[in-house]
Amino acid sequence: MPKYVPVIGMEIHVELKTRSKMFCFCENGYELKEKPNQNICPVCMGHPGMLPVANVQAIDWTIMIGLALNCEIAKFTKFDRKNYFYPDLPKGYQISQYDQPLTFNGRLTIGNKDIDIIRIHLEEDTGNLKHVSDGALVDLSRAGTPLIELVTGPCIDSAKEARDFCQEYQRILRYLEISDADMEKGQMRCEANVSLQEEGKFVIENNEVKPLFDNELNPKAELKNINSFRALERAIEYEIKRQTKALENGEKLVQETRGWDENTQSTFSQRVKETAADYRYFPEPDLPPLIIEDELVANLRATLPELPQAKLKRFVAQYQFDPETASIIIEDKHLAAYAEAVISELVGWLVALPEVEGSEEEIISANGKKLSKLVGNWLTTHLFKHLNESGQKVGDCKITPENFAEFLSLIYTNKVNNLAAQQILEEMFATGKAPTDIMEEKNLAQVDDTEAIEKAVDAVITSNPKAVEDFKAGKEASFKFLVGQVMKETKGKANPASINELLNKKLA
Ligand SMILES: [Zn+2]
Repeated sequence: MPKYVPVIGMEIHVELKTRSKMFCFCENGYELKEKPNQNICPVCMGHPGMLPVANVQAIDWTIMIGLALNCEIAKFTKFDRKNYFYPDLPKGYQISQYDQPLTFNGRLTIGNKDIDIIRIHLEEDTGNLKHVSDGALVDLSRAGTPLIELVTGPCIDSAKEARDFCQEYQRILRYLEISDADMEKGQMRCEANVSLQEEGKFVIENNEVKPLFDNELNPKAELKNINSFRALERAIEYEIKRQTKALENGEKLVQETRGWDENTQSTFSQRVKETAADYRYFPEPDLPPLIIEDELVANLRATLPELPQAKLKRFVAQYQFDPETASIIIEDKHLAAYAEAVISELVGWLVALPEVEGSEEEIISANGKKLSKLVGNWLTTHLFKHLNESGQKVGDCKITPENFAEFLSLIYTNKVNNLAAQQILEEMFATGKAPTDIMEEKNLAQVDDTEAIEKAVDAVITSNPKAVEDFKAGKEASFKFLVGQVMKETKGKANPASINELLNKKLA
């Protein structure tokens, strides 16, 4: 049986969140409006004789994403007309870029592999069609929204790699703040070209799959209707299985477009391509070609933020975060900035505390692991819980990095125990009050006073003779029960280590 290798290339469309549309001054339609056709004008409705004007912001942002993906930037580029008739395309053509894309020849590293990016070009989005019982309705709100199309080489060889690539691309788009790239809203649309080729009988050269000797290539399927990363991964996995099985059974595959059906978790044939569509591309006569000056590119390059992969590496190296926690924190640029501000403030707090010794650098290098664990845990577990429950983003959060750091310093120096800390955080999240104030108001400071804890331990031992007996008979669970009772007696404020020590001593 021959061995088949998956050959996958991606085509990803992303709507840019500029203020206005690509070729007119209408408000951008990337967020669907409640009512249809709210932000339209004669240009994006395709009335005859209307002249387009290119959106400079969209051009700059396309250059930015090109730079972020190590692409070359064209010195000369132009727009072209792609001619086809469809009811959601009022002009009867789409303004796109054909043979001279704005950026090209880039790469993005996924794992240890470079994924080749053939090109990223700029075009305009179409409108939306809504199918109803007696026909279809057209909403042109989205028509003319700036759209970038990224095309990778056919160098991806698994569903997971395709997903990782798309997720990293989304992270970068969000870091650049040029698109929210929400797949469910259709702001990011991933299509995968999937074929299976026989091992040793093809090569990939200049981003093209070529047969070796006199072999014939197997046709590819273009997967569409994918609205989540999970669906993307599943659709490709399904397609690899389907094509492998067909080839092994000696069936002939056809080049076709296949949709993903979420209900049946399978792909289905939508359209069989017999000939390549002829779009009769020609240079857009209503828009002048663009000359991209080196100075513009240099200026845009200077505004590139630190990108997610670099930030991840730095968080691990500089703050000693474990890679998993670091990858959760860097997922959102604003959260990463918040975490950094918290760490910096926290170290400041610790330096100022009389009981903590050493300079800022000494504290970080000596306690890095402990600090990053503390910050990571309280951010990604506890603060996330509150953010998720309230549907807020870190930017809306009432807790300033200063207060969050002060809060962590209370835990770090054992002023409050875990239970009390959770209560304090909840109050901070609701009111934005300072943690020390909450601790004092609610009397939540940890009781480290041995005398008070001893009193509570004695009381618990006296009133729970059964548990004491069970523990002495070897039942470990009874010890935990007794610790819990002492904690209750001290209203959750006692230092758990002191309780353990005292109980052990008294029950020995
Ligand atoms: Zn318009």
